[in-house]
Amino acid sequence: MRIVVLTGGIGGARFLLGVRAYAREMGAEVTAVVNVGDDLYLHGLKVCPDLDSVMYTLGGGADPERGWGRVDETWTVKSELAAYGAEPTWFGLGDRDVATHLVRTTMLNGGYPLSAVTEALATRWQPGVRMLPATDDRLETHVVVSDPDGGGQRAIHFQEWWIRHRAGLPTHRFVFVGAETAKPAPGVLDAIAAADVVLVAPSNPVVSIAPVLAVPGLREALADGSAPVVGVSPIIGGSAVRGMADRCLAVLGVECSAAGVGALYGGRSSGGLLDGWLVAPEDAGAVVPGVPVRAVPLLMTDEAATAAMVRAAVELA
Ligand code: GDP
Ligand code: CA
Repeated sequence: MRIVVLTGGIGGARFLLGVRAYAREMGAEVTAVVNVGDDLYLHGLKVCPDLDSVMYTLGGGADPERGWGRVDETWTVKSELAAYGAEPTWFGLGDRDVATHLVRTTMLNGGYPLSAVTEALATRWQPGVRMLPATDDRLETHVVVSDPDGGGQRAIHFQEWWIRHRAGLPTHRFVFVGAETAKPAPGVLDAIAAADVVLVAPSNPVVSIAPVLAVPGLREALADGSAPVVGVSPIIGGSAVRGMADRCLAVLGVECSAAGVGALYGGRSSGGLLDGWLVAPEDAGAVVPGVPVRAVPLLMTDEAATAAMVRAAVELA
C-alpha cells in the first residue's frame, strides 16, 4: 500500500507519527507532501518551519513541550543577534536548529533544489517516511493587513503575522506569493499518481494545506488520480485543539467547525478535494455536501491513538 499525506508542521508531524506506525504494521510506504508557505530567510539562512517540524518530530529530535524546534535547545545565537540589534528578533532561532539552516542554505546556494536538500538532511534524521516539499520553487504565504502606520493595507510574511503579531492584526486575506509559476517538486505528482490513498492531515487548512494545493497541477493530480482522498478534521467541537487556526478561518469567513473546514475543502464530486471526511465524535452530526463523514476520536494524545485515526481514515477511503 502507498500512502500520500498532505501536511503542515506541528499538527501534521504528530499525525505522521501515527501514519508511520500504521504503515509499519501494514508494510505500507508513506510520502509526506509538506507545506513550504511558511519558509523564509532569516539572517541569511533559509528556514523551512514545516519541513523541520516533520523532520525533527519523526527523527526523534523535536522538543515535545514547545512542539517546534529541537529538544535540549540553547539560544546563544539568538541572544548574540539581539545584542547586535539584528532584526528580526521575534523568531526563535535555536543554536541546534541553526546548524540545519546552515547546511540547507549552503546546499541551496550550491545549486541543489530544496527537495534534494530535504533528502540530504533526512539522511541524518531517518524519518521513516519520504519527505517532499510541495514545490522547489519560492511559494510564500503573505498576509494582507491594515497598515498600523497609515490608512492603507500592507502585506507581511505569514511568520511575522503569526509569531510577531500573534495573528492579532486586522487581516484581509492570504496571498501565496509565487504560486502561479511554482511547479510540484520532483516526485510529488508521481507519488500522487501511484498512491492507494491520500490523507489530508489535521493541519491548518488555510495556511498549511491551502498553499500545498496552490501549487499548479497538484490539485488537478488529486482530482484526476485514482486514489481516494480522505481528510482529518483539525477542528474538534468548534475549537482548533492547539494553535490559532480559528483566526485563519475567520479571515476567510469560514466557520470554525468540522463542517466548515469540510465544506472549505469540498467534495470531489463538486470539484473539491474530498472523498471522505473524518470528524471527532462531538462533531458526528457534521454534514458536508457530497462527502461521507465518519466520526472517530481525533485527539492525537499518543502514537497509538493517532495510528487508530489513520486506520479509520484508510478504512473510510
Ligand atoms: P503548523 O504548520 O505547525 O501550524 O501545524 P499544522 O498546520 O500541521 O497543524 C496545526 C493544526 O493542528 C491546528 O490548527 C489544530 O487544529 C490541529 N491539531 C493540533 N492538535 C490536534 C489533535 O490532537 N487532533 C486534531 N484533530 N487536530 C489537531
Ligand atoms: Ca506551519
